[in-house]
Amino acid sequence: MPPVNLAAATKVYCSTLFNQSVPCLLCGIRDDQPLCSHCLTLLQPLPNNQCRCGLPFSAAPAISEAPPLCGRCIRRPPDFASSTALYPYQFPLDMLIQGFKYHGKLVNERALQQLLSDAPLPWPDSDLICPLPVHWLRRWRRGFDQSERLAQLLSRHWQRPVVPALKRCRATPHQQGLTRHQRQRNLRKAFRCQSDVRGKHLILVDDVMTTGATAREASRALLTAGAASVRVWCLARAL
Ligand SMILES: [Zn+2]
Ligand SMILES: [Zn+2]
Repeated sequence: MPPVNLAAATKVYCSTLFNQSVPCLLCGIRDDQPLCSHCLTLLQPLPNNQCRCGLPFSAAPAISEAPPLCGRCIRRPPDFASSTALYPYQFPLDMLIQGFKYHGKLVNERALQQLLSDAPLPWPDSDLICPLPVHWLRRWRRGFDQSERLAQLLSRHWQRPVVPALKRCRATPHQQGLTRHQRQRNLRKAFRCQSDVRGKHLILVDDVMTTGATAREASRALLTAGAASVRVWCLARAL
């Protein structure tokens, strides 16, 4: 039996006992954050130059130019004033968001917090933060509402209150796999404003924007209730 190096063994034992590092959620390398510094570099934020619906443009507009619109927004301009999307909704962020939303993996929420703490979050010049809610039945099954959790994080950052102004009146089926027309029909009158938002500039927070149909319908409910303007903020945008 080889001689035991007591000093080395003690060092390993103590580092195991006191080391607060956790395996990176994506590659398994131990780090003091849920996502290691290498994996963070894989998550590239979207450029700032985005359409009103959050879709990024490859070229920056001339300084004097108004922000351009994508073909869809030209044909049917959204009710909301602008969108800010932080990341593209693609691997590995889609996996992290889905793990959090559908499987209740709270460690994934810590990874999302980490992404937010690293991301530029310029103040969006609004009075109130309003989460885009899920239906109460879905919230009850899940145990939480991911947009509300994101809104709370942003509220701490921006020092503005969260107002759960919107109520989802119908448990709309998942939008995935539906055509644009089916999505619109699915969402008609899906939201009701239950707070006094008259004259307020609102920031509407969602985790993922897919086509923008849900944000359009939710904004319509807020503007009909008298909101001065609605800007959309989402963590990820489907491209
Ligand atoms: Zn990693
Ligand atoms: Zn657009």
